[in-house]
Amino acid sequence: MQCSRVRTALSARLDGEQLPPGITGGQLDAHVAGCVDCRRWSAGAARLQRLIRAARAADGEGERP
Ligand SMILES: [Zn+2]
Repeated sequence: MQCSRVRTALSARLDGEQLPPGITGGQLDAHVAGCVDCRRWSAGAARLQRLIRAARAADGEGERP
């Protein structure tokens, strides 16, 4: 599987969206397990996702004028 397809699917999974057609979670995990580049990308994307979630949460609960 191409790395670009894997990353698109990983990004969707992180967002809680459906995986693109023809890709399963097991395939993703197998590719990431064997591909250092995608593993690194996945770690970075997951960290970014946490930051975005934290920022959104802070936005919703912050003090308002
Ligand atoms: Zn890859």
